[in-house]
Amino acid sequence: MNAYLELQGIRKQFGNTSVLNNVDLKIREGELVTLLGPSGCGKSTLLRCIAGLTEIDGGRMLLEQKDIVNLPPRSREIGMVFQSYALFPNLTVSENIQYGMKMRGASKEARRNRSEELLVLIDLEDKRDAYPQHLSGGQQQRVALARSLAVQPKLLLLDEPLSALDAKIRKNLRTEIRDIQKKFNMTTIFVTHDQEEALTLSDRVCLMNKGSIVQEGTPEAVYTTPRTEFVARFMGSYN
Ligand code: ADP
Ligand code: MG
Repeated sequence: MNAYLELQGIRKQFGNTSVLNNVDLKIREGELVTLLGPSGCGKSTLLRCIAGLTEIDGGRMLLEQKDIVNLPPRSREIGMVFQSYALFPNLTVSENIQYGMKMRGASKEARRNRSEELLVLIDLEDKRDAYPQHLSGGQQQRVALARSLAVQPKLLLLDEPLSALDAKIRKNLRTEIRDIQKKFNMTTIFVTHDQEEALTLSDRVCLMNKGSIVQEGTPEAVYTTPRTEFVARFMGSYN
């Protein structure tokens, strides 16, 4: 495989507890990979390590063949969206979207153009001057997505971005995220503990348990050919 992102033997401990045990992962450009697994298995920690928010204890991380381990978070050019939308409450929707570009010194015009383009994409043009508190959870999460896309990251990391939303909104937004991801050919890691979400969204599923990737493959393969009892139970293959 021609890897766009390659993780080799990633290790992380908190105190004496090993949270990531030699995680290997390769992702192609434009691929949407889900990291699926029960709560506490290390999904968020792995994303934070890739983003540079948590230091790793060992291993290599290559993005476009370049070692990123020693780069500070911003230089990695990785966008991240969390479960809690974490928008800036004192900035409008459009200011939130433009924030990263502003920090990078983009011109006002470039910022406005990009922001308008993204507002159309997330269908919130009429909310450009609204403050986050006046938006629904689903709308806030779409803004968070637009904000992370505004700076054209090389890689998008989504940490349970839909978990805080109602079932119906969750399904709509799931489809929207998939459409946007395809449209931008955005290489994406999507973290979830919801197997149905993983099965419907992904090009590839990586199932994690206790700090290791225990099986990976197409959604269909992981679902129909579970290699262990754990995978079968977690995927609901026996239902
Ligand atoms: P997941 O996202 O899959 O639910 P996490 O990556 O958040 O799992 O957590 C994996 C394990 O690491 C858990 O046991 C959690 O308690 C522990 N952990 C996560 N962050 C820290 C931290 N900053 N300090 C100590 N332990 C942590
Ligand atoms: Mg988590």
